[in-house]
Amino acid sequence: ITDKIAALPPGSLTFSLEFFPPKTAAGATNLLPRLTRLAQLRPLFVTVTWGAGGTTAEKSLELAELTQTRLGLTTCLHLTCTNMRRRVLDAALARAKELGVRNILALRGDEPREGEYATTDMEEVPEENEDGQGDDVSLVYAVDLVRYIRARYGSYFCIGVAVYPEGHASSCYTTQDPAVDMPHLIEKVRAGADFLMTQMFYDVEAFLKFKHSLDTHESGVFKGKPLIPGLMPIQSWGILRRTAKLSCASIPKDILARFEAVKADDEEVKQVGIDVMSGIVESIRDNAALRTSTRGTHDVAPQGQVFHFYTLNLEKAVAQILDRCDLVSNERSHENDARTLQPTKLVN
Ligand code: FAD
Repeated sequence: ITDKIAALPPGSLTFSLEFFPPKTAAGATNLLPRLTRLAQLRPLFVTVTWGAGGTTAEKSLELAELTQTRLGLTTCLHLTCTNMRRRVLDAALARAKELGVRNILALRGDEPREGEYATTDMEEVPEENEDGQGDDVSLVYAVDLVRYIRARYGSYFCIGVAVYPEGHASSCYTTQDPAVDMPHLIEKVRAGADFLMTQMFYDVEAFLKFKHSLDTHESGVFKGKPLIPGLMPIQSWGILRRTAKLSCASIPKDILARFEAVKADDEEVKQVGIDVMSGIVESIRDNAALRTSTRGTHDVAPQGQVFHFYTLNLEKAVAQILDRCDLVSNERSHENDARTLQPTKLVN
């Protein structure tokens, strides 16, 4: 991913997409044609989520296989580390490598609960760890996972980590503040993270302030580490409220008022969502252009900007935002090299 970002023409804009492994056969059937069509727009990369504790291990790897090897998309596999057995983690990393996946988003997952392990859906979990160490060696924070991957795989994987422009949600309602997470974020980067991907947000000012704090951080550790904003197209009033609450993303008053005015009508909500998200992309783009034209105030090299979309496995709103914001490069979309898929693998 970082090689691809470095190769983007300075000032260019592009996008990436997140998918989750479908839970049901119907979900899988719906996802396949959407993925195929979205693949034709040539996202810079796609990410595949991971159920905390490895609950979706098998399905996540199947989806990663589909996107990486059958659709030919650069794939980033999310991996969590808490409450997950070591051998599940080892097996997942080995499978990812076998599939040619070169990118991992290293995450903590849920709050750790001592001695509890999630039941995974992985069929072929080895009986023992390769290094003979206990299965219960617990990785508590994402930084432990970054170190674990680097220790075993060197620079094979490009590693991303999660960041929170408004502060991590566990300290929600009390001390939710990005400054509280900063020392731990620095640790994650020093441990070997290559890029940073944000929690969803609606408050552009908060994102820009956060970006500025990284760009100008006295430690210099964030230099050359791409920061990828994560955006969630809004599909309904209920989803907006739920996801904003879960992630503790604040919704600026003017944006909330626009949604409240149409909240009873899902189609209108979607449309407002497209307008709002397009506005967010444009504000970030304009800010980057401004910074490039006034270079010298910060020591930031102009580079291509990636916008990451949490698709919720849906297509239309994302496609409209990409179109509206001119995020699809004609060159890339005309390559049109998505392969034809057989829907066998994704079905439950
Ligand atoms: P960490 O970086 O470990 O941080 C968690 C909290 O602990 C923070 O408050 C941090 O400040 C604090 N902390 C970190 N290190 C230390 C330390 N050494 N001592 C004390 N405190 C410390 N979850 C899933 O289950 N599956 C997914 O696929 C998934 N994808 C995600 C994708 C993105 C882009 C994002 C932003 C989140 C995703 N999550 C996913 C959610 C994520 O697992 C949670 O937000 C989780 O609560 C924190 O993960 P983290 O990797 O940021 O944790």
